[in-house]
Amino acid sequence: MQDYEKELILKQERVEKLLSGLVPVVEPIIGADDPYHYRNKVHAALGVERGKIVAGTYEPGTHKIIDGGGSDLENEAAVKVINDIVKIATKYHMSIYNEKTGQGFLRRILIRTADATGQMLVVVVVTDHMFPGKKNFVKLLVSKHPEITSIVINVNKRTDSMILGDKSEVCYGPGYITDELLGKKFTISAESFYQINRKQAEKLYSKAIEYAELSKNDRVLDAYCGTGTIGICLSDNAGSVVGVELNPKAVSDAGHNIKKNNANNVKVIKADATEYMEETAAAGKTRFDVVILDPPREGTTPEFIKACGKLDPSRIVYVSCNPETLARDLKLFDEEGYSAVKACPVDMFSFTEHVETCVLLSKLSEASKLQVNIKMSELDLTASEAKATYEEIQEYVMAATGLHVSNLNIAQTKRKYGIIERQNYNLPKSEDSRQPNCPPEKEIAIVDALKHFKMIQ
Ligand code: SAH
Repeated sequence: MQDYEKELILKQERVEKLLSGLVPVVEPIIGADDPYHYRNKVHAALGVERGKIVAGTYEPGTHKIIDGGGSDLENEAAVKVINDIVKIATKYHMSIYNEKTGQGFLRRILIRTADATGQMLVVVVVTDHMFPGKKNFVKLLVSKHPEITSIVINVNKRTDSMILGDKSEVCYGPGYITDELLGKKFTISAESFYQINRKQAEKLYSKAIEYAELSKNDRVLDAYCGTGTIGICLSDNAGSVVGVELNPKAVSDAGHNIKKNNANNVKVIKADATEYMEETAAAGKTRFDVVILDPPREGTTPEFIKACGKLDPSRIVYVSCNPETLARDLKLFDEEGYSAVKACPVDMFSFTEHVETCVLLSKLSEASKLQVNIKMSELDLTASEAKATYEEIQEYVMAATGLHVSNLNIAQTKRKYGIIERQNYNLPKSEDSRQPNCPPEKEIAIVDALKHFKMIQ
């Protein structure tokens, strides 16, 4: 767990550094309660090594399969199913696909799990639609793993790196599973796009919803909406939601999800997000109070940001999976009149370099900008925060107690004692969304340092 705490500190520092000068407040990163076994989509390639069937991820940059590779982060029940498929394949001498020769039958296993409902979809990827002993294979697997609710056989003869081929046959259950995010139901089939870490996705979406400060009359645009998850999750808090998504499969999944949740105030449009916004702004009919955007890793485009300016929402919530492109885009948003108010990193993928960040941008009029500045100086918050740097606090604590305290520990303690909280930014009252908490002995040492630097009484 210590390694994980360090990782969170590094991620926090990375986001703070990239956003410095662009976002006045970066809240402490929201980490995972359990950083292991979060992946609800588990993929194992099959192969044969020294006469033994192996299953796992590829060694980075190669096509060598690491037996059991990746399983620390993968759903544990899914890993057990993969192990049992290997046992069944071994016992029944099933032929395993060989990438080099292109020969062999059993190629890959893809498992998707719905953590909220316990459902599991197993996709068996093979190279031929003729599956000898298919019935017995399915029967055996389900008898060993009653948690499996659906099995799909997918035929993939391709020689590229696509996991799934075009043809699928549902041979057990409905061919999909249903999971829940913030109480809303979402259908996941073999190909559907769905958040990999459900628990952290809920925290990220909650943060986005909190930042959007929605009221029942608000009209929300959910740009880059995928299967409509964010829009549907916030639909109870808003007046209406329009999702925009380019991928037709995601749009059709979004349609199912809207029906499943009776989210009658949500609609999803298949379009390029920028084009939709430009057309909507030009038509001048529809107004949006809030724009939420969740673009891919490349971030959004200058055109999107300009179109956003024309659309003139009062708030923008940027959900980013790449802080580098986020920083680049925030500069352009600023030129368009939208200043970032606060940001919060969320760790969706522990033990990887990825970090998500949620940012609130607001169209501040010159008058309200002035007011914010005055409020901040009235409260003397920036001044008190500047009294000692994080480094100085760390050094003081180390010299006084021998304890190493992280920036995250300091930030958490500062918040607890009201130093970071800038009331005008509406930070949430609840502390339980932030992990890990600062250990008590470290908190005492930091409080001592804060007193020493006269930052608290
Ligand atoms: N908000 C969703 C999905 C985010 S992934 C969720 O939380 O699950 C980003 C999505 O943007 C993908 O579904 C991708 O197909 C879509 N996308 C990429 N470029 C786009 C564009 N120019 N216009 C609209 N959607 C786009």
